[in-house]
Amino acid sequence: MNLLQEMQEIRVRFAPSPTGYLHIGSARTALFNWLYARHLNGKLILRIEDTDLERSKKEFLEEILDSLKWLGLNWDGEPILQSARLDIYRKSAKQLLDKGLAYEAQGEIRDKEGNIIKNSKRITQKAIIFKVPQKIITINDLVHGKIEIDSSTIKDQVMIKSDGFPTYNFACVIDDTDMGITHVIRGDDHISNTPKQLLFYEAFGFKAPEFGHVPLILGKDRSRMSKRHGATSIREYKQAGYLPEALVNFISLLGWAPGNDREIMSVTDIIKEFDIKNVKSVNAVFDTDKLNWMNSEYIKALDVNTLTPLIKEFLDKEDLEGLDELNLKKIVKLFTIRIKTLGEFKQEAGYFLKDKLEYDAGQLLKLAQRPAIKENLIKFRDTLSGLNEFTILNTEEALRNLAKELNISAGELIHPSRFILTGKTVGPGIFDVFELLGKDRVLKRFDRALEKI
Ligand code: GLU
Repeated sequence: MNLLQEMQEIRVRFAPSPTGYLHIGSARTALFNWLYARHLNGKLILRIEDTDLERSKKEFLEEILDSLKWLGLNWDGEPILQSARLDIYRKSAKQLLDKGLAYEAQGEIRDKEGNIIKNSKRITQKAIIFKVPQKIITINDLVHGKIEIDSSTIKDQVMIKSDGFPTYNFACVIDDTDMGITHVIRGDDHISNTPKQLLFYEAFGFKAPEFGHVPLILGKDRSRMSKRHGATSIREYKQAGYLPEALVNFISLLGWAPGNDREIMSVTDIIKEFDIKNVKSVNAVFDTDKLNWMNSEYIKALDVNTLTPLIKEFLDKEDLEGLDELNLKKIVKLFTIRIKTLGEFKQEAGYFLKDKLEYDAGQLLKLAQRPAIKENLIKFRDTLSGLNEFTILNTEEALRNLAKELNISAGELIHPSRFILTGKTVGPGIFDVFELLGKDRVLKRFDRALEKI
C-alpha cells in the first residue's frame, strides 16, 4: 500500500438486488467486502439495487438483511435504496446529453416474447443513450490482473430507460461515485459490465474505483453452483442448523486462503489475514462434505450450555415434554460429537425425545435370531428391573455380571439392547442410554420388544 492509499479511507459496498434470497455466491461477495473493510478499518456500504420493479420484493430485501445480520456482516450507515435516487440518475444522464456524449431516442418497451407493447403507460419519456467511444479499455483487476477490452464490441449504452428507470451499469457508476467507493469487489459474472462502467467514469471525468472480480463458485462436479448441488441460500443453511460462524469460515475459503493451509479460523483471524490480492483467480469449489466437517468442528467446540438453547430451537414443544433441562443437556452432551448440524439432533437423538419408539420389527427379529437370545433378554430385563439405582455404573455392572453368569459375551446383550432402546444399531455408549432414558422407559421398551420376538 502506498502512502496515498493509506491516507484514503477504504470504502466498499455490497449491492444486492432484492429479487431472490441471499445465495451463497452473493454472501461470499458480501463477506469479502466486509472482510476487506474491517481489515483496513474502512466502511462497508449496503446499497439495494431495486430498480427492477417487477422482480424486486420487500420480502427478499428483508430476508437479505436478516441473512447478513445472522452471518454477522454488519454495514455502516443505513442501507441506500436506488429507487429513492431516480432524480439523481436522470440529472446525471442529462449532463452527458449536454456534453454531447449521449442522445435521446424514442424507447420501446417489449414483452417477454420481444413484441413491442404499444401505448404502454410505462413509456414516460425518451430513453437517454450513451454514445460508446471507440477505444481500448484496460482493467487492472485486483484478482485477475490486466484485462483489455476493445470497445467496438460494446454497443451504445442505455442510461435511462423509457420508463424513467436507470440501467444497472449507469446507476452503479453514479452511486459508486456518490458513495465514495474506493474498491468494487464483486463476482466474475460482472467482468463484462466493468468496461461499460469505466466508459461512464471517463465520460463524467470521475475517478474510477479499483476492481476485484471474484471467481465463480462451482459445485463438486465443476458446474456452476445451483439448486442441483443442494441448498443455495443462506436461509436454507440456517434452517438446516449450520452455525453462522462455521458458514462464515467456510465461505471465506471459497476462493481465498490465508496462505498457511489453515482452515478452522476465527472471524477475528480471518479479518486479520484477509487480503483481496490473495483471492485466487481460479473458480472455487463448494464441497458440502467439507462444510459439514467444519460445522461439526464448530459444534464440538461449543460448551453444552451454549449448544443446548441452539438445539432447542430445532425441537418442537412435544419433543421436550417430560424432559428437564438437566437431562436435555446431558443428551446434548452425548451427541455433540455425533451431529454435523443442529437440525440433525432431533433425528439422531429422537429416541430420547419420544416416549414411543418406532423401529423396524423385522430388523429386531433378525437381531434376535440367535438361540436363547429371548431368554437372555428376559433375564436381563428382570435384572434391570431389580436395580434400585439406574446409573451408568449400575447398569454396566448388572449387564457384565449377567453376561458372565450366562457365559456369553457382553456384546450379546449390548447389541439387541441398543436396538430395543434406540431403534438403531449404532449410537452413544449404551450405559449412557440406560441412565438417560431412565428405568421406566427402558423396561417399557424391553417389554414391547419381548412381545415381538
Ligand atoms: N446488483 C448487482 C448484483 O446483485 C450488483 C453488482 C455490483 O456489485 O456491481 O449482482
